[in-house]
Amino acid sequence: MNGRPIRLTVLGATGSIGRSTLSLVDLHRERFELVALVAGSDAAALAELARRYRPQLAVLADSSRLAELRERLAGTGVATGAGETAVREAAAAPADRVVAAIVGAAGLLPTLEAVRQGTVVALANKECLVCAGQAFVEEARRHGSRILPVDSEHSAIFQCLLAGRRDDLERIVLTASGGPFRSWDLARMARATPEQALAHPRWKMGAKITVDSATLVNKGLEIIEAHHLFGLPEERIEVLVHPQSVVHGLAVFCDGSLLAQLAEPDMRAPLSFALSFPDSRLPSGVGPLDLARIGRLDFEEPDPRRFPGLAHAREALRRGGAAAAVLNAANEVAVRAFLERRIGFLDIARLIGRLLAHPLADAPLSSIEDALAVDREARLVAEAELRHLDAASSTREPPSPC
Ligand code: NAD
Ligand code: MG
Repeated sequence: MNGRPIRLTVLGATGSIGRSTLSLVDLHRERFELVALVAGSDAAALAELARRYRPQLAVLADSSRLAELRERLAGTGVATGAGETAVREAAAAPADRVVAAIVGAAGLLPTLEAVRQGTVVALANKECLVCAGQAFVEEARRHGSRILPVDSEHSAIFQCLLAGRRDDLERIVLTASGGPFRSWDLARMARATPEQALAHPRWKMGAKITVDSATLVNKGLEIIEAHHLFGLPEERIEVLVHPQSVVHGLAVFCDGSLLAQLAEPDMRAPLSFALSFPDSRLPSGVGPLDLARIGRLDFEEPDPRRFPGLAHAREALRRGGAAAAVLNAANEVAVRAFLERRIGFLDIARLIGRLLAHPLADAPLSSIEDALAVDREARLVAEAELRHLDAASSTREPPSPC
């Protein structure tokens, strides 16, 4: 690494990944210079971060909050902006590394903007790969942008692959914590509340990905993400439930060797790797694992009956075209409806299944524009389908006291 600080932009700065990123900046203030901090609508939170980290630019997606942001940053010298165009301009501002951590398909265009500058992108926003997969990867290739995975499983596998020849690789294994409902039966899962789904046993994350972890749809999205990042077909991407969440991913080689990466379940570890690679690793504040304390590592196959979201994702990946974008949009609509208590927990996978059966899932998809159009259309269809689920669902009763 040369002496110049790394010019860093954080998309989704006020979120869980954004804040973990900034905690790494705290540890290495001299290494980083903040270019832009971008968030959705929380002007107070963004202004507080901007006062502390002094980026050149602080931008909100929600333009109705611009006046508040301006007022809160008056006199600081931090330029402000708001709205979709301002977010994209912030993502395109010259930087050495962009952390892409906006949640959902809303992150696609801003992340793409960074990719089109040829910037190194530390990618947390898996939904943009699920939604626009091939087209996104091709844009990155065309513009010479390197995508470094932040998702802990993909970071693990990326690191394992550095230690072996690609031709010798047989398959990869993504681990899953199993979420809060790992040992619940279906009847109990049907009554699960948002509070229960949000009580993740291992990871502290934003609400959407926490619900995705409870349904295991997150692991389904990660299978699709891994396919695009590592160029492997669906059948060479395995999933194992591993409740301790310390083995994050494995690479299986042709001589029977398995290489694994282990670390505490703390996103600062994969983030610091994505901020420093290929230079020396950065201390992340994450201590080394105490294996004697952990004592044992368990692994089990995921249960397809209770977690159908995984099979849905595999199906979407095999079908290709618009199927994965449809799955992602259906999931975003369903998770929001579940958090708003409009549908039950099991309805999330049900809605995804219904959308995959819709003709839209068979549409071809060959460009970013196609992906955006499919995403928009699928959200409308999903909202309409929600009404059928509403009528059919008997799962929104309050949970029984036992
Ligand atoms: P979060 O909900 O905590 O944060 C989301 C961030 O995105 C916030 O800063 C929010 O203001 C911003 N945002 C939302 N909509 C926006 C928009 N339209 N334009 C600009 N900004 C917008 O979510 P998170 O847990 O930090 O997750 C972020 C992404 O990282 C997701 O794609 C998630 O799947 C992925 N990821 C997260 C973790 C984790 O541990 N949290 C792990 C792996 C991957
Ligand atoms: Mg993950």
